[in-house]
Amino acid sequence: MDSRWRFAVLATATTAVAAGLGAYLLAKLPPDPPLPGVTEADLRALEDALSAMPSLAVEADADSPDVVVIVLDTLRQDRIPLYGYERPTMPMLTEWAEDALVYDEARSVTSWTLPSHASLFTGQYPIDHGAHGKSPEAYDGGHDAYRLPDDATTLAERARDVGYRTWGIAANRAYLSRNWGLNQGFDLWLCEQLDNYQIGYPTAERVTDLALRALDERGDEPVFLFLNYMDAHTPYFVRDGHRMSDAPLYPRFQHDTRAYRLVRRLVLLTGWGPAPVLRAWSDAYDADVSYLDLQVGRLLDGLEARGIDENDYVVILSDHGEYFGEHGLVTHSKGLHDEVVRVPLIVRGPGFPAGRSDALVQTQDVPRWLTEKMGAAPLPDAEATGERQVTELYWTRRREMELSWIGHRFNHVLRGFSDGQRTVTLSSRGEVEAFDGHGSAPLDETWVEPLRSWGERWMADREVTEGAQAAEDDVEALRSLGYMD
Ligand SMILES: [Zn+2]
Repeated sequence: MDSRWRFAVLATATTAVAAGLGAYLLAKLPPDPPLPGVTEADLRALEDALSAMPSLAVEADADSPDVVVIVLDTLRQDRIPLYGYERPTMPMLTEWAEDALVYDEARSVTSWTLPSHASLFTGQYPIDHGAHGKSPEAYDGGHDAYRLPDDATTLAERARDVGYRTWGIAANRAYLSRNWGLNQGFDLWLCEQLDNYQIGYPTAERVTDLALRALDERGDEPVFLFLNYMDAHTPYFVRDGHRMSDAPLYPRFQHDTRAYRLVRRLVLLTGWGPAPVLRAWSDAYDADVSYLDLQVGRLLDGLEARGIDENDYVVILSDHGEYFGEHGLVTHSKGLHDEVVRVPLIVRGPGFPAGRSDALVQTQDVPRWLTEKMGAAPLPDAEATGERQVTELYWTRRREMELSWIGHRFNHVLRGFSDGQRTVTLSSRGEVEAFDGHGSAPLDETWVEPLRSWGERWMADREVTEGAQAAEDDVEALRSLGYMD
């Protein structure tokens, strides 16, 4: 055997054994003490926020429905039984969805939190609202993304205009703190006040408790309630009773962020990671999704108990998915494959008959539906998904862009054009990639060409909007979720 080959085989075998052993040993760690439920500080923050709410200038129609929008951050469509996953990760959501409309072909507009939520609130694609990544040329050493400009018009502002109470409770402090402008129009916004850096975000139990307690304090006005849950995002915290696999888990990234970073960089550099670690990573994700289901189920029961019923609207979706080694990638904001842009989207309420829909829909459609149901004015320049779905990614995190040996993979603007089943991505460097639901596909001109030319037409009369500069006060939140080293 050639010595180079011998070295490669030896290196691979050693890495695999070390990774397997590492995963095994991590799984043997004693369990973490349980995380606290809702804290005194949480309740004080809620009370302060409730008492600081401005009075409403407009009285709502008596029959205005309540509207609840729930984002399950980082939840992949194919990881829940409602969309065919074989593991019982979300039984409570499945049961609830029997009375709801499930969109089989839902896609996010992008693969990370900030632009996705900005589209959910403005009805626009990232190219138009501007809250997306900065180009390397525009990067000046501060944040690597633009905030949503203050003159943007949001769903919450529209709701308030017609007499709604507008409340947001957001666990993703990294990109939903006030710094990023997504709280525009909310009378109550609980995010950065919810301090929990033990795992980097407040748990689902706390979000559910706070949401239900807030509703206990409601007056007669209709409520627009937005919730963001972070438990499907790293770092994972595997709880007793939620393991979805007997394989060794790699459950507690907060104990070993160095190992986590090492694997992340290995995959982003080489396109390869040790299979046992990636599997363990993915198993830990499933376990956290199972815990999330319990808490979302508790929320949905609590809404029902508080009179939010079939005459009101509940929308459940995700802002993006996650890679576990597919396409040589991990985490998100690294590409526009199905793993990161196909999201669950489930809507219950009048006009959304129980069942399944194969309509092409995206994140930015949701606020357009809801303004109409609330009797509010349409959002300016809101755009319906047409005959194709569009996804966009503007570079990636500075953390990776600055490492030239990784950054070259992401040094571009990427746009995906999809007919539901098949996608063509065009990069600003002129690269074309095509894939279907099963992964990469050969560039078959019979379907690549129509999607490509449709995409070029979509781009033709648009200019890229750049949002506003965000203040530099949120570095710790980004670091705790692994966005900065
Ligand atoms: Zn997210």
